[in-house]
Amino acid sequence: MKAEIIAVGTELLLGQIVNTNAQYLSRGLAELGIDVYYQTVVGDNKERLIQAIDIARGRADLLVFTGGLGPTLDDLTRDALAERLGLGVALHAPSMAKIEAMFAGRGGAFIESNRRQALLIEGATPLRNDTGLAVGNAIAVDGTCYLLLPGPPREMKPMFDNDGSTWLREQLGPSRALHSVLLKFAGIGESALEDLLIDLIREQSDPTIAPYAKEGEVAIRVSTKAGDAAEAGSKLERTLSLIRERTSAYLFAEEDVPIEATIVRKLTEIQRTLALAESCTGGLVSQLVTTVPGSAVVYVGGVVSYSNGVKHKQLGVPMALLEGPGAPGAISAETAAAMAEGMRVAADADFALSVTGNAGPGASEEKPVGLVYVGLAERGRGTRVEKLQMSGDREGIRIRAAKRALYMLWQ
Ligand code: ATP
Ligand code: MG
Repeated sequence: MKAEIIAVGTELLLGQIVNTNAQYLSRGLAELGIDVYYQTVVGDNKERLIQAIDIARGRADLLVFTGGLGPTLDDLTRDALAERLGLGVALHAPSMAKIEAMFAGRGGAFIESNRRQALLIEGATPLRNDTGLAVGNAIAVDGTCYLLLPGPPREMKPMFDNDGSTWLREQLGPSRALHSVLLKFAGIGESALEDLLIDLIREQSDPTIAPYAKEGEVAIRVSTKAGDAAEAGSKLERTLSLIRERTSAYLFAEEDVPIEATIVRKLTEIQRTLALAESCTGGLVSQLVTTVPGSAVVYVGGVVSYSNGVKHKQLGVPMALLEGPGAPGAISAETAAAMAEGMRVAADADFALSVTGNAGPGASEEKPVGLVYVGLAERGRGTRVEKLQMSGDREGIRIRAAKRALYMLWQ
């Protein structure tokens, strides 16, 4: 199935809002095994909207619209499509009842134009809107499928994920939907991972293996088309077990979760606490950890020890390590170890991680850009440090250093 996404809205053309719906839908359609060939943006103008429909019908067999389902006069999508298909529109009673109930609950007068949000194209399947009022429309006419979704992302996303996807799966028929497993890795770069799997990646046809890197983490999506989850499972199993065997040191999750969530879950399970001493990451590790709901159970706190003075005063790193002739300096294995140990003791935590390095752009202490040390101190078990040489820009180095530090806790 070849799809075209048509985002409707003059605000998009004026640059007042970003077309995030197109991105969300492209990704969602790809997951269903539907190829998106075109993304179009058109303003709230009936004539041009109809032109866009005609062009899309000539080159795609699924048209997915977002926007223009609301109550106001500039919301034209449903009417324009109905007109083009030569079909009428009719009130969808349950949606109308919901709109009336909403107005009754608010105690305000009913605004007549809201009726429009309950309109369905003749013969269309209604798509439930749990976060708003406009009902979605799905209809297949002469071999072309049309999906009409609201513009606001908080309405569009759940509608697409629920009723929209269900309807699309029905149109695709059995054995066409894409099933995939996401594998997440830490402590290894994209190209090193690819190297471990190069023969599998070269020979792939079904299942397909797609590696990608994002925000300091590396992931692989293994996908196949199948009728149901059981069939998909058996088609994916051999490839998955080969990948698991070769990458077990780095594979931390088989779902879309970041390393920080995995670490918080693990520490919660084993009932251990964590403290952080950060230099070049400036609190980024702390930020990642505290983004995870429930992190308060394991994370006790940290120190952003950017200067040597704070490394010394707050964490007890000896000045002799930090400065002076022959001192290893702030960016060194010795300092990373002392930061982790000092932090662990100060916070009375079970674990403390430390990060110290040069994120660039210039050299610091005459150490190269991308040189980072991460340390892990563990109660009763001593401290270990890893030396990393990273490439990339400042932001890239910082985020990868932060993720790499967390990875020490997973090993
Ligand atoms: P409403 O009932 O809110 O009018 P609608 O279905 O008519 O919904 P639009 O009027 O086209 O949708 O857009 C409403 C709002 O939804 C926009 O102001 C914008 O905030 C958001 N929106 C619309 N289209 C997009 C898009 N393609 N990407 C991201 N946000 C969008
Ligand atoms: Mg609108």
